[in-house]
Amino acid sequence: MKSWVAIMKENIKNIRSRPQLLLSLFGFIALSIAMLLMTYFYSQKSRAILYSHVFDQLSSINTIKTHNLQLFFQDREADVTALASNQTIIDLSRLLDAHELQSITDKNTTIPDPYREYLSNFLKQYMYTDILIMDAQDGDILSSLNYKQYIGKNLYSKAFENSEMTKLWKKVIETNVTHISDMHIPVLYTDVPVMLVGAPVFDKGKLISIVMIKMPSTSVNTLVHVKSGDLKTYETYAIGQDHLFRSDSFLEKRYSVKNSFLDPNHSKVYTKSIDEALSGKSGSAIVQDYRNLSVLSVYSAFKFDTLHWAVVSEIDDSEIASQFDSILRGIYIWTIFVSFLLIFSGYFVIKSIIRRCVIKPLEKLYTKAKGFEDIINDSLNEIYIFDKTTLYFIFANKCAQTNAGYTLEELQYMKPLDLKPYLSDEEFQDLLKPLLDGSKQTQIFETLHRRKDGTDYNVFIHLQLIDVEGVECFVAFINDTTEYKQVLKDKQHFNFLASHDHLTKIYNRQMFDTFFEKEIQRGERYDTNISLILFDIDDFKMINDSFGHKQGDEVLIKITTCVTQLLRESDIFARWGGEEFVILMLNTNIDQAVKKADEIRASIQMLEFEFGKNITCSFGVAQIKKLSHSDTIFIEADQALYKAKENGKNRVEKFNA
Ligand code: GH3
Ligand code: MG
Ligand code: MG
Repeated sequence: MKSWVAIMKENIKNIRSRPQLLLSLFGFIALSIAMLLMTYFYSQKSRAILYSHVFDQLSSINTIKTHNLQLFFQDREADVTALASNQTIIDLSRLLDAHELQSITDKNTTIPDPYREYLSNFLKQYMYTDILIMDAQDGDILSSLNYKQYIGKNLYSKAFENSEMTKLWKKVIETNVTHISDMHIPVLYTDVPVMLVGAPVFDKGKLISIVMIKMPSTSVNTLVHVKSGDLKTYETYAIGQDHLFRSDSFLEKRYSVKNSFLDPNHSKVYTKSIDEALSGKSGSAIVQDYRNLSVLSVYSAFKFDTLHWAVVSEIDDSEIASQFDSILRGIYIWTIFVSFLLIFSGYFVIKSIIRRCVIKPLEKLYTKAKGFEDIINDSLNEIYIFDKTTLYFIFANKCAQTNAGYTLEELQYMKPLDLKPYLSDEEFQDLLKPLLDGSKQTQIFETLHRRKDGTDYNVFIHLQLIDVEGVECFVAFINDTTEYKQVLKDKQHFNFLASHDHLTKIYNRQMFDTFFEKEIQRGERYDTNISLILFDIDDFKMINDSFGHKQGDEVLIKITTCVTQLLRESDIFARWGGEEFVILMLNTNIDQAVKKADEIRASIQMLEFEFGKNITCSFGVAQIKKLSHSDTIFIEADQALYKAKENGKNRVEKFNA
């Protein structure tokens, strides 16, 4: 059986040690995780937005560049077509063709000055590096404005057989189309990548030669690489379907695309974007670039003659990511910091709230309850609480346990009647009934309790039905009256000694005085007759002297016993002193008192004693005439007694006024 205060203490301990606290901690951890997840979610969203923004910018850059490149190619084609249909070139082609080239020694003379001037101007105007005229029939290089060493060489010769010039020459002859291609001129002649645009030259419907203009590929590169837009680091490069022309990366230090394209193994340098664009598509993607790094790539295509051209703009993913990641890192660090702050501050705030709002009031309540429990437990009254219906004990305080000798554990299987052997079940039910039906608030009764060791003790019981938070139970407050009874007995004994004569056990003179005063007051109210008999043992001194003091005492005892038996309940009989006695008779007039006195006298005379002599007494009787002068009755009775002695003893005399 655990006391509810103990349960309360346990509860406080439980609250303090936690689920709420742990719960709040978990709550804050969950909140922090949610914050981190949200940060992650929004960072991903932001990343997507950033990427789409970068893609948009790259797209517009790429579109402009593609458009410019297309226009550039168209311009070059228009240039060469215009040149091919120019009468000056036709004339020159015819003129050159008419020469026996082998016989020409001074190559400067191959082109007459008026033509040279025209071509030089053309060259200068469009920043071309050379104008070449090839024979349509045998592939002889008829003229080169700036590379005289070419003149007279044949395109089928070893030096030129795999050159882009030869390829273009063949293509123009076979398909009559112009074509822009890079030309990887062997180091022997030049190490600058060049572009060639060619066009057939007709003279009266007959193909007589092919004119080619040559320009450094850097002119395209410049066009491709002109920077535009907000993006700081990106590259654009263009590549032809035949993979023969590529522009270079303008970020040479960062990228090695130029080197790669110049590399004999450059055909390996492809990306998914290049492939897609070369098949005529436009789009964007995050791809692995030629360096095997992840890049944001935007590509578009245009067609020039039969050839697809791809224009690709790319920016390193790591470049965007590094900026974004540094911001993100900052956000994560702050989020984690705030989370920790939230967890710790939240934990301590909740802890202090629980302390302040729950634990402290509970502790206060506990201290109070503990105080009450201590009072109940330490009370020297036995206190039992038992169930209203089963009557089994629920609680018993220390005093109850000590006095009855049972432990709490034993008591929980016991009922009140197990302690009350002198109460029957019916009697006990009769005691409970008025409490149960509410007709009585408390039952007070006395009985005996039996201890575990079989001994009984007197108990005085207060039984109540108490409502404890909606649960009704009986509470018995029990006093062990053993000691009290002894005290009462002692007191009664003391009172008896104080008010009675120790020898004869009748009232003493003090007690008689008290009664007398009380009866006089009562008599005043009811106006009754009150008479007084005073009697004295005759020749008592002689008894003492003759038979001893002890025999004298015996006489006193025997006479008082005899007189007591003859008196009424209402008569007050007392020892007046020595061998003199007094009887106060209420509602009795003097004659009735005389009669009674005489009866007593006769009875005493009849008494027999060990010493073989009869004893007589003399009586004086008086009646109160005026209550206001009641004291005179003693004098009057005394006078009457004196008269009786005078008149020979063993007689009754009444006072006559
Ligand atoms: P009288 O007939 O005139 O009354 O004569 P008496 O001898 O009775 O009167 P007295 O006053 O001369 O003697 C009273 C005696 O009573 C004296 C005293 O020793 C005795 N006496 C008084 N009280 C007690 C008592 O308590 N016990 C005994 N044994 N004797 C007592
Ligand atoms: Mg006497
Ligand atoms: Mg006397």
